Amino acid sequence: MTITNDAIQRICILGGGTAGWMTAAAFSKVLGNQSLQIELVESESIGTVSVGEATIPQIRAFNQLLGLDEMDFLRHTQGTFKLGIEFINWYKPGTAYMHPFGPYGTNMAGVPFHHYWLKRGSEQPLESFCLEAMAARAGKFTPVLERQGSPARPVNYAFHFDAVAYAVYLRQFAEKRGVKRHAGQMKEVMLNPVTGRVDALLLADGRQVEADFFIDCSGFKGLIIEQALHSGFEDWSHWLPCDRAIAQPCASTEPPRPYTQSIAQAAGWQWRIPLQNRVGNGHVYSSHYVDDDEALQVLHDTMLTPPEAEPNLLRWQTGRRREPWKKNCVAIGLAAGFLEPLESTGIQLIQSAISRLLSLFPDKTFAEETIKTFNRYSTTEMEQIRDFIILHYKANERDDSDFWRYCRTMNVPDSLNDKIQLYRRTGRIFRENNELFSDISWLSVLNGQGIYPQSYHPLADKFSATNLDEQLAMLQKQVTDNVAAMPDHAAFIARFCQAKVM
Ligand code: FAD
Repeated sequence: MTITNDAIQRICILGGGTAGWMTAAAFSKVLGNQSLQIELVESESIGTVSVGEATIPQIRAFNQLLGLDEMDFLRHTQGTFKLGIEFINWYKPGTAYMHPFGPYGTNMAGVPFHHYWLKRGSEQPLESFCLEAMAARAGKFTPVLERQGSPARPVNYAFHFDAVAYAVYLRQFAEKRGVKRHAGQMKEVMLNPVTGRVDALLLADGRQVEADFFIDCSGFKGLIIEQALHSGFEDWSHWLPCDRAIAQPCASTEPPRPYTQSIAQAAGWQWRIPLQNRVGNGHVYSSHYVDDDEALQVLHDTMLTPPEAEPNLLRWQTGRRREPWKKNCVAIGLAAGFLEPLESTGIQLIQSAISRLLSLFPDKTFAEETIKTFNRYSTTEMEQIRDFIILHYKANERDDSDFWRYCRTMNVPDSLNDKIQLYRRTGRIFRENNELFSDISWLSVLNGQGIYPQSYHPLADKFSATNLDEQLAMLQKQVTDNVAAMPDHAAFIARFCQAKVM
């Protein structure tokens, strides 16, 4: 038997946004060697979306893959720490809840904590049992909690950072490892008339960039994957009707909070992302229910200080590319599809596509089985995240606008409906096939959006009510004591990762 390995020698990445430079950085670190040339084409005149400033904890695995020094990375990107997201006015006006990155209480006798909490009538706020949630509210942060007499407890966190500075930081990383950058506008994708594969990209000044394998990181338009290879697009806007955003930063008036805020508005929601040097704001809305001028006014009315830059208007269609890998091209980032930024999953989707691609890295034969596997897992991942985001909209009791009434009454995917019904009926949350969001995340949003179960796990009855009340009180006290022992978030930044004044 002959085993072939017709190795790829040239990779071309189209696009120098977050997706392009994350891909270039990871490839140069993992695949970089003398016989593989990695090139990246980007157009300075077209620019990037320049948003994408809140992350989820998985980004730390990406940093570790690159071997980045976390504090150095934060100093260069005006970074702050993120312990979760606070959702304000989502369930109904006047309500707020936290989706934290850490667990609630502790599982006992193999039964998740929340069943005990339900059994005791869910009287105490759920977040009072979560270290990350309470630390966020108190403005505290440390990466690892040292406790006398007990093992150290790692804290679950992610980051906020300046998206433009992040791309610059990764560009320096990638160029140091041999990635060759071409500044210029791509005019044409040159397809092979026999195989239909991409042979080269033709730039406006006549240069041609040839490669064996192309990564399309060209943003929403998907210049290779869609415009040239016609992958097709599955539209999800009937489930996620927000299709625009206006982003605009303002000055900070307080020390940065270690969490993102998401504030529901009449036809969408608004983000507040605290960085070291400013606050990132954005209003995500449905153009069917509000026009751009009104949307900008809503943003200005709720900004803490006057805007510090021109508004950045972004438009999109929610959904996914049907074949994110087609022929010899893989789309990563916005080129592969987009789910609105409610749960900060854009950068995570880039990261997981990179790691999936590294696991399935092809040779020049581009085996159909490899491509199918990549596409199948990419689809499942996006559908699972989609369901989680839809839940925030569907489970609302707002009656103040047509937008929220539409969301409450819309049909949702069966996969989400099944999950909601399972929880409502039994209190059970079932994490499927390694899905991104854990039961902690689902519980936070189900509970925060006012969905209450009719029963709890029968094994929770193993503990008496008195015994449980003692356990719950002890767990709450542990959280309070641990939070009290943590440094202030701002003090931690000042000590370990203060950015240079810009
Ligand atoms: P882009 O940034 O659009 O980059 C495309 C690149 O392709 C650019 O370099 C451009 O110059 C280049 N290009 C395009 N055409 C050509 C051409 N003809 N020739 C040469 N080069 C070309 N994600 C998160 O994780 N957290 C968040 O908080 C978050 N917030 C978001 C808020 C909004 C409103 C939006 C829209 C997205 C948000 N995202 C967020 C998603 C995140 O911004 C993106 O996933 C990320 O920025 C990746 O973008 P990209 O690199 O795919 O595309």
